[in-house]
Amino acid sequence: MDFISERINNLTPSATLAMSQKSAELRAAGIDVINMSIGEPDFNTPDFIKEAAKVAIDENYTHYPPVPGYMTLRKAISEKLSRENGVDYAPEQIVVGNGAKQELCNALLATVNPGDEVIIPVPAWVSYMDMVKLAEGKVVPVYAGVEQNFKITPEQLEAAITPRSRVVMFNSPSNPTGSVYSRAELAALAAVLERHPHVLILADDIYEHINYVGGAPSIAQFESLRDRMMIVNGVSKAYAMTGWRIGWIAAPLAIAKGIIKLQGQYTSSVSSIAMKAAEAAYTGSQDCVEDMRRAFERRRDLIVELAKEIPGWVVNKPDGAFYLFPEVSAYIGKRYGDREIKSSGDYVMYLLEEAHVAAVDGAAFCAPGYLRLSYATSEDNIREAMRRIREASAKLG
Ligand code: PMP
Ligand code: GLU
Repeated sequence: MDFISERINNLTPSATLAMSQKSAELRAAGIDVINMSIGEPDFNTPDFIKEAAKVAIDENYTHYPPVPGYMTLRKAISEKLSRENGVDYAPEQIVVGNGAKQELCNALLATVNPGDEVIIPVPAWVSYMDMVKLAEGKVVPVYAGVEQNFKITPEQLEAAITPRSRVVMFNSPSNPTGSVYSRAELAALAAVLERHPHVLILADDIYEHINYVGGAPSIAQFESLRDRMMIVNGVSKAYAMTGWRIGWIAAPLAIAKGIIKLQGQYTSSVSSIAMKAAEAAYTGSQDCVEDMRRAFERRRDLIVELAKEIPGWVVNKPDGAFYLFPEVSAYIGKRYGDREIKSSGDYVMYLLEEAHVAAVDGAAFCAPGYLRLSYATSEDNIREAMRRIREASAKLG
């Protein structure tokens, strides 16, 4: 008897975090692993943001902050939304939480009843599916493979909507595929959603600034959907602030209030100091965002070129985020000695053990047959990792 609840027994551990942990353990044991499993900018947080945190400590921002976050930060986010995204959300509609992760989960916990359906275009980030489970909802995956550049069509969306649909999740640029929906593609999806007013929309725009197409539009831009639109974003990716754990949601007022009630009972607010740092990120110079974006673009070009040279991989050119999601099923059924590769997961483990490169199995993102590589690492690491993968893959016959 281990006393673990069914709720927790039903959860799957996060594959991205598990793989990153495994690669850290191998490194600690002296093995030179290149970690391309976790999606985290390798840059440090810009200095002006760190300075703001130091000032916050000296100015005694050390007491419990308001549950939804400091009003100054909520105002800065509201201004960011109108300046960059052309959408108006009052500060009262914004709730700050422990990363975009917590606000995504809060949004589902606040709106999904047991048995409600949550439509998720897949491949999708590992945590979405388990967040829906936590909320006792039912995941309705809508699959788009590499042959359709990982983007769902309006027809697919229409077919997935039922009277039990409660929320549809969108993530563009996407983790794990890097695909970016164009404005026209989003407009076609929005037209479907207009016909189904009982469905809420949850837009995860965390990678908005990391794109290589001159801007990634959001599904949130459509006025006709505004009264049922929830936007989640944060500072982790754009400002290299993963460790500060600041994310937020902008939502219809009743939902924002529901989330504040929930947060007030289980996490209160987030770190006062981290919030002051995030405020500096939104109100200071935005040059750092563009500098990092450019570095990611160079790395994207490099990894795509090298990945195309690996026999059997089917590779698209991702337009955003910092992930490559090759289709690798050509390696399923191959052998090395007495070891047989039976799945993309076996191939990922083989690459970890033989090439010392950590990736994540596509199955964790609802896409077996694929794997995910994060290229938020140096160009030298990318070159060396791809060389090792090629060499190890060539040994499989
Ligand atoms: N959404 C997506 C698609 C992500 O890849 C991540 C990265 N972990 C998050 C949300 C959460 O980011 P954070 O909690 O660091 O703000
Ligand atoms: N979003 C990142 C990833 O997919 C961070 C790890 C996580 O929270 O899953 O690798």
